[in-house]
Amino acid sequence: MSDYEPVTDGGEVSDVLAVAEHRRGDLRDVSFEIISAGRELADETGGDLHLAVVAGDVDSFADQLNREGVDHIHTVAYGEEFNHDVYTQAVEALSDELSPAVVLMPNSVNGLDYAPAVANRLGLPLVSDAVAFEWDGALTATREMYGSKVETTLEVDAERVAVTIRGGEWPAAEGTGDADVAAFDAGIDEDAIGSRVTGFEEVGAGDVDISEADVLVSVGRGIEDEENIELVERLADALGATLSSSRPIVDAGWLPKNRQVGQSGKVVTPKVYLAIGISGAVQHVAGMKGSDTIIAINTDPNAPIFDIADYGVVGDLFDVVPALIEEFQ
Ligand code: FAD
Repeated sequence: MSDYEPVTDGGEVSDVLAVAEHRRGDLRDVSFEIISAGRELADETGGDLHLAVVAGDVDSFADQLNREGVDHIHTVAYGEEFNHDVYTQAVEALSDELSPAVVLMPNSVNGLDYAPAVANRLGLPLVSDAVAFEWDGALTATREMYGSKVETTLEVDAERVAVTIRGGEWPAAEGTGDADVAAFDAGIDEDAIGSRVTGFEEVGAGDVDISEADVLVSVGRGIEDEENIELVERLADALGATLSSSRPIVDAGWLPKNRQVGQSGKVVTPKVYLAIGISGAVQHVAGMKGSDTIIAINTDPNAPIFDIADYGVVGDLFDVVPALIEEFQ
């Protein structure tokens, strides 16, 4: 156990507890983003930032997570992969120990699995999918609705709250930190574990996680025909990039669903997002506006994609893409 003494005796609660996420041996990007989000919040609450990691190989993860801004890392050595009951018990036990003002979890598939259970067990209100927040004795959180067309502000009328944060909204924490790292015995009750991961099955050779890619070549309806997909595939190969798309391409069956960027697809935050023949509809932009650099190729100078693009080429993709392939090869 750490020597850290939380404020619990009727004092104002101010600490923030954030939970890291990993999959198949690697920490996910959101684990570093949640440090930035948690630090921002802890600076406003005036408390410490605690980071929890629940895993088999906790020591290696704790080393990687010890970045600037983290005050305390609590490791729960249990299991290799995500498990609903283990995470729920571990985060509940740590929250009981630390009494944080805010429990931050990723708004990921895993986070959405255990965050409601944690909030329920702790008797806390839950704000999901926050993209920004402020603290003024209580939390005010911003959420986006209707494909990012509308922003809603939630004022939480409670001293303590559970929150899930959207990936890609905060920068990844960097720099080496000096957090104290302590093993936490969460007292995991084996009998209360109702499910276990028994194995992983790859969906197929073409299966990739576009949300983890650094460079995305994304194709839209401007590509006109399935047989032309090969052209943008060649560009992706030449750039060492991953291929993604807008929804019509997936609806047409030209690329699998896991390549779709947007409101009903995946949220992506690559270093470079190359939008080819994509108009920039709000539902698409909702999934890629967090990209570092956006480059658009479109014949229509008034296409909305140019409103958010850092660089734009007004031109025919059937001229521009072959020229780019030649250049990069
Ligand atoms: P279009 O809007 O048809 O744009 C094609 C673009 O290609 C045009 O701008 C055109 O000027 C350009 N073009 C044409 N020919 C060329 C050429 N030769 N060279 C260069 N440019 C050319 N969409 C998503 O993408 N992801 C989602 O997750 C998503 N979820 C949705 C959820 C809901 C509930 C709804 C209602 C819609 C959703 N959509 C989603 C659909 C979205 O509204 C748009 O219809 C879609 O994003 C348009 O895709 P696009 O840009 O490829 O096609």
